Amino acid sequence: MSEQQSALFPTYARFPITLVKGEGSRLWDDQGKEYLDFASGLAVTNLGHAPQKVKEKLVEQLGELWHVSNLFHIPNQEKLGQLLVDNSCLDAAFFCNSGAEANEAAIKLARKYNAKVLGKQRYEIITFHTSFHGRTLATLTATGQDKVKEGFHPLPEGFVYAPYNDAEALKGFVTDKTCAIMLELVQGEGGVNPAEPEFVQEVVRLCKEHDLLLIIDEIQTGMGRTGKLFAYEHYGIEPDIITLAKALASGFPIGAMLGKAKLREAFGPGSHGSTFGGTPIATAAGIATVETMLEENLAGRAAEMGDYILSELHAKLAGNPLVKQIRGKGLLIGIECTLPASEFVPVIHEAGLLVTAAGPNVIRLLPNLLVTREEVNEGIGIIADVLARKAAASVK
Ligand SMILES: *Cc1c(COP(=O)(O)O)cnc(C)c1O
Repeated sequence: MSEQQSALFPTYARFPITLVKGEGSRLWDDQGKEYLDFASGLAVTNLGHAPQKVKEKLVEQLGELWHVSNLFHIPNQEKLGQLLVDNSCLDAAFFCNSGAEANEAAIKLARKYNAKVLGKQRYEIITFHTSFHGRTLATLTATGQDKVKEGFHPLPEGFVYAPYNDAEALKGFVTDKTCAIMLELVQGEGGVNPAEPEFVQEVVRLCKEHDLLLIIDEIQTGMGRTGKLFAYEHYGIEPDIITLAKALASGFPIGAMLGKAKLREAFGPGSHGSTFGGTPIATAAGIATVETMLEENLAGRAAEMGDYILSELHAKLAGNPLVKQIRGKGLLIGIECTLPASEFVPVIHEAGLLVTAAGPNVIRLLPNLLVTREEVNEGIGIIADVLARKAAASVK
């Protein structure tokens, strides 16, 4: 259907593919064509499509209760909160419906904690160039990319942008107004950019020195994606706040903000809320998702499979002049090219593999955490083939 005829706003530059069915690592379009899925709904379907345990739990909950207001106790919400708290360095959870909302909650909590608990008039949050934190007014302002801000001014005050992975420059951004630093440990949308350990140590040091909150945006990196349940575990650090969404309920909409115990007081009754945040259904899907990840050690599996993919990509793409760098953590992998990723992505789709672009020149691979070696070999074969054909065509 052309955008002209569509009843939808043309907010998305959609690929010319209509997917109608999914199972595990496979998707089918409305023409019956089969695809291997290394996009995973943008790091959402970490257990693959229609995972059995989540489906069973959802069906069971659908027969019991769909929605009640957060003015009442919701046992599934308590249980999912407990699971997340037991398996992280955080102590309390707030549930919402998306990543942007989770970051919005984190921004509000950081301000409120400073105003109410510390009694300080500090509100500035340091974020980073090429970061991505969401599309609401506050979170697009937090995002370190001008293109998402165009036409939406005036933007909320209180965000400053430091260069990513530049430990030296960072301290120059801390002022008497700074209340928090907000960071992705692998920038996802920005181009699969892992944070350097020394840079992260400097972030932590500055947070300690100035009593700033460390907010880690784990919306894309969380839920086993990078080879640990949460990416902060790779760095031996303890954030004050982490935000989650994407894979937390296997595709059922949900978001969560987890925080340290000292922050509880700042989010008292009436301070923040959401009608749908943490419904019995969304949190049922979340419980089944997290239990599956823990029982089957899927983070460990992601680490192993990610290493295998990196070494295979290095081997199969060696000598291709279009490939600049291959990088990533676990199953969040980027192939940086010398040409825009949009030159390759549709051709890879045509060849039966779904991938997405990140940043201007990066082909991003996000297979599910249960992906098999056979599937990985098949996907890498397609990528190597497309890039080899493109390289051959470009020297002619
Ligand atoms: C996707 C994403 C968001 C925004 O999540 P939405 O659910 O689209 O609002 C925020 N931060 C990061 C790192 C993301 O990858």
